[in-house]
Amino acid sequence: MKSTASTVVLETVADLKAWRSQVAGRPGSVLGFVPTMGALHAGHMSLVRLAAEQCDHVLVSIFVNPLQFGKGEDFDRYPRPFERDLEFCRKAGVHAVFHPAVDAIYPGQGQSTVVVPPRSLIEHLCGAFRPGHFEGVATVVTKLFGMATPEQAYFGEKDFQQLAVIRRMTADLNLPVSIKAAPTLREADGLAMSSRNVYLNQEERERAPVLYQTLCHVRDRALSGSVSLSEALEDGRVRLRQCAGVELQYLEACDPDSLAPLETTRASMVILVAAKFGQVRLIDNVIVR
Ligand code: AMP
Repeated sequence: MKSTASTVVLETVADLKAWRSQVAGRPGSVLGFVPTMGALHAGHMSLVRLAAEQCDHVLVSIFVNPLQFGKGEDFDRYPRPFERDLEFCRKAGVHAVFHPAVDAIYPGQGQSTVVVPPRSLIEHLCGAFRPGHFEGVATVVTKLFGMATPEQAYFGEKDFQQLAVIRRMTADLNLPVSIKAAPTLREADGLAMSSRNVYLNQEERERAPVLYQTLCHVRDRALSGSVSLSEALEDGRVRLRQCAGVELQYLEACDPDSLAPLETTRASMVILVAAKFGQVRLIDNVIVR
């Protein structure tokens, strides 16, 4: 265990378990867990703040999980500014950062058991473009829950399909952890904060707010009743396809729990988008409650 000011850095599963039982294992003590892949930004820190408000101890994990990256994706070049991340965590009063090497999580011969979420949650949206991604997410999150045994775990609505998968997995597998969601933090121009935004060149960065603008436009038109949800979505797709340098992957409206695609406006729905700006894949969504 290494300690920087008040934040402990845990690098092995044994360190994590020891910290868990000594520091955060006191009766009545509530551990809040924020799993991340690092390259922390204000969006991550909003999850940390929420955890700090609601829990006695806050644990952040920083682990770029190879299992959730496909061939040709950005696993190798994913940003890993660990010292900067640690400073963020220290300033935010995080009690411990779990920063394991890949073989601490997947030792020896590699991963044997994989958690497979229900097909209906992962066969469309991001799952259609990133085969194996949600199996990788579900597996690592299950392992991290098993190692850290948090009472509460915090996830961003920014990755809405991921949140739906984790909520369902936690319920279906009776995992003893309460899943908490936090709203998407945005830049001043509406772009959802993401560790991948640093990859955008200036032109792509200037274009990127079109995702959120389109989501809001689709939502407002559908809710106004002036057009059907299908029409609003189709107009949104046309708008994005006409944008130079934007490669639309999907723009869909879904039920927030089942993620079943919707064609007519509902009081509760989520509108989700994914598009590539050059090599950079961005996702976003707006939730209607
Ligand atoms: P990541 O490091 O990208 O795996 O994200 C770690 C957690 O932070 C996930 O639960 C994300 O949904 C959440 N997160 C990422 N970006 C944002 C954002 N802009 N606002 C709120 N939460 C976010």
